[in-house]
Amino acid sequence: MEAKLFASLACARTRQPGVGRFDLVNGAYVLIGTSRQRPGSAAPMQADGLSYGDITIGDRYSGCPGCGADSFAQCGQCKRLACCNSGDRAFRCPSCGAGGQLEPGAIRLDGITAT
Ligand SMILES: [Zn+2]
Ligand SMILES: [Zn+2]
Repeated sequence: MEAKLFASLACARTRQPGVGRFDLVNGAYVLIGTSRQRPGSAAPMQADGLSYGDITIGDRYSGCPGCGADSFAQCGQCKRLACCNSGDRAFRCPSCGAGGQLEPGAIRLDGITAT
């Protein structure tokens, strides 16, 4: 497993693209921070069929740079990541527009590949 992982993590409210950084801690990935994607830079690649297992939010995670949300979710349709608040019940994907109920539980980095 890669020691560090970067994946697209868009803001669900402002729809700004972002990049989430995940560090490998004790065999599991932890979300360390999200930063705005620089204009003109390429988004991290994504691919189907890869799984990076369960991930958690780091203690020092400072939140979404667009809206301050303290957590994130994975879209069930396009598999992209987007910010959400940990108390949110509903989710609307800023990447493909799919909406639905947020399902509690561990988030799995399925379909995300490292850069
Ligand atoms: Zn946000
Ligand atoms: Zn989506």
